[in-house]
Amino acid sequence: MEFIFGVFAALIGLVIGSFLNCLVWRLYKEDTILGRSYCPSCSQTISWFDNIPLLSFLLLRGRCRHCRRSISWQYPLVEFFTALLFVLTFLQAADSVNFSLLLARDWFLISSLMIIFIYDFRWQMVPMMVVWPTTAIVAVLNLFLGFSWLAILSSGLVGAGFFMAQYILTKKRGIGEGDIWLGLLLGITFPTLSYLGLSLISAYFIGSIISVILLISKNKGWKSKIALGPFLVIGAIITLIYGQEIINWYLGLF
Ligand SMILES: [Zn+2]
Repeated sequence: MEFIFGVFAALIGLVIGSFLNCLVWRLYKEDTILGRSYCPSCSQTISWFDNIPLLSFLLLRGRCRHCRRSISWQYPLVEFFTALLFVLTFLQAADSVNFSLLLARDWFLISSLMIIFIYDFRWQMVPMMVVWPTTAIVAVLNLFLGFSWLAILSSGLVGAGFFMAQYILTKKRGIGEGDIWLGLLLGITFPTLSYLGLSLISAYFIGSIISVILLISKNKGWKSKIALGPFLVIGAIITLIYGQEIINWYLGLF
């Protein structure tokens, strides 16, 4: 039975992922959310049969039917990862007494984090119009999940303060204002120090590995900026899905 629901979660993830791809583009172009999808290259409306998540990308071999220009790998990747994360969080929530509330929070959070990831990765900008409402909604959902408002608030301040301190100390180099808001979101999302700490440590850990790889491959010089936001998103997702396991493993070391 769980298998059927898992497949169902994957299908919902694919559809949401496809919607997120379209949403992030419209957010950037300040376009309306309503209206049919269109090709960013030739502006041709995309028919429903060319808009099936993953499948259409494969059938069209990654090219627009009309202008033959290649479709960004962003589309199938976001669809795939949204589906994967929806399944993983579904399996995690399945044993919880708060199943529907937990699933609502996780799926909402994953969708927002996906948008923040793509937006910051592509345009080196944290989309505040996504971060602010997400922070507010996750705070309310966490209250319903049983966290105290004091824990949520203080954790949020620790998260924001962590980046605020760096922002002031480095005189705005490296850390942007958007990262302070992301710190607040992380703190509110994970209202315990161990979880918040884990999300930050994994973000910096993965960030430094990628930086070293880019440096060795000479893909990016010392000076070119790598946005921090996408790594904070990865840190948050790792904590969301494997947080308990990692913390248990760590505590077991002593
Ligand atoms: Zn086209």
